[in-house]
Amino acid sequence: MKNLTTTLLVIGGGPAGYVCGIRAAQLGVPTILVEGAKLGGTCLNIGCIPSKALIHAAEEFEKARHFANNSPLGIKVQSPSIDIAQTVKWKDGIVQRLTGGVGALLKKNGAQVIEGWATILDGKTVEVKTASEVYRIACQHLVIATGSVPTELPFMPFGGAVISSTEALSPKELPKRLVVVGAGYIGLELGMAYRKLGCEVAVVEATERVLPAYDEELTRPVLAAVKKQGIVLHLSCSVQGMAETGQRLRVRTAQADEFALPADLVLVAVGRRPRIEGFGLENLRLDMAGRAIKVDDQCRASMQGVWAIGDVSGEPMLAHRGMAQGEMVAEIVSGKKRRFAPASIPAVCFTDPEVVVSGMSPVQAQDGGIDVITGMFPFTANGRAMTLESTDGFVRVVARKDNHLIVGWQAVGRSVSELAAAFSQSLEMGATLEDIGATIHAHPTLGEAVQEACLRALGHALHV
Ligand code: FAD
Ligand code: NAD
Repeated sequence: MKNLTTTLLVIGGGPAGYVCGIRAAQLGVPTILVEGAKLGGTCLNIGCIPSKALIHAAEEFEKARHFANNSPLGIKVQSPSIDIAQTVKWKDGIVQRLTGGVGALLKKNGAQVIEGWATILDGKTVEVKTASEVYRIACQHLVIATGSVPTELPFMPFGGAVISSTEALSPKELPKRLVVVGAGYIGLELGMAYRKLGCEVAVVEATERVLPAYDEELTRPVLAAVKKQGIVLHLSCSVQGMAETGQRLRVRTAQADEFALPADLVLVAVGRRPRIEGFGLENLRLDMAGRAIKVDDQCRASMQGVWAIGDVSGEPMLAHRGMAQGEMVAEIVSGKKRRFAPASIPAVCFTDPEVVVSGMSPVQAQDGGIDVITGMFPFTANGRAMTLESTDGFVRVVARKDNHLIVGWQAVGRSVSELAAAFSQSLEMGATLEDIGATIHAHPTLGEAVQEACLRALGHALHV
């Protein structure tokens, strides 16, 4: 057993933990980060990055197939095919480059990384078993950044034909028929990707709409695209388990009728849960918020010197939220005064078309007692969208009626994820409709719809 002492000990090397480790080390705080699997966590290894790589590959393949079918652009392609093993290899290369970079950044800044699974003994002591050594580490500050795990359906555990996003991101071969359970982020992002890769895809969703976390107007173009792409949707349905004969999933409708869906593979994407088991967390008896560790606006848990960041601290389970929390905790530990009070945590769904939200929707503003005006600009009136063959969708701005302060943005359309930066900057900087409406936006860009949405809210849009 080796004894170590440090000021800051981070458990988990995902985006929340590794950013905390890098920033603390930058600020001269003696830091140890413990990671049991791979640096980069869910995000870099089995989440954000590999999913976006697969989505991109699927889009490129779909484009090639579209060209082979008499493209209106006059492009001719001979019948394309895809080598999925090569696609996965390419995706793994990106993951390796990024995770290697995280290790290099931690090292460059002076944080020590220990590869092994941590067990919490008490609020100041953690034991780590590595391949060759057992460490007992004493710390002043303990940061829990253990992330989350996919939710399993108890009657249909992961294994065999029933897979989580992790397996879906590294297919050995493409299934003929994929059934996706859950029309949320993962279900629709990966369901669409598999459809574009040529699989037959059906989606079973418990609620009555796709992406139920977003407002209906925003998801309407996504619903239309799901249908256009040939994905079969079963809304207001619940799954009952695999049929005994195999390769069929039993589904029940809201009217209690049952039917069986042919399925070579079933991707269960019904949410993720904070990872709170198997590492001695119960020894701390922390206050919890449901299954998440309860934290205050500085990410302090209910025990002195213990912090929780990222997915383990609850919703929204997004990488950029975890990173922002990690950076903040490192700065507080180094002596700076910080508080987690962002004007917005943007969220993007990388479906086709993409969805992006930042700040409040009109309904959320009304629920909060704020009297608002809105402005919506459709991509049918945007030149750049036409040249991209993508006129579905719109940008919508939400602003206070009394002083025109912008309180929210929503957009749906091709490549609108990149508008997240402009949306969040305007909210953090307290921009008004007049500020954005008077800003010259480059032509021809999708961003012109951002300016025009504000002008429309003010009653004098120019191009609609
Ligand atoms: P994690 O990334 O889960 O990292 C936790 C780390 O802690 C893991 O590496 C784990 O091995 C380690 N660990 C746990 N327990 C121990 C222990 N006892 N000892 C040592 N190490 C331990 N978010 C976005 O913002 N945008 C996206 O596009 C996006 N796409 C996604 C796509 C998919 C398919 C999935 C599954 C998720 C996606 N997410 C996305 C969510 C995002 O991945 C998570 O919000 C993010 O990874 C959370 O970061 P974290 O650091 O809290 O936890
Ligand atoms: P989700 O919460 O986005 O969607 C789950 C969906 O499953 C919901 O629509 C829900 O109504 C449905 N559902 C729940 N139980 C069901 C059941 N028994 N049968 C049928 N449908 C059921 O969860 P997810 O897609 O698994 O993603 C998990 C989390 O990962 C997200 O909430 C998000 O935090 C993160 N993520 C983010 C991104 C991104 O930022 N682009 C991408 C992927 C994942």
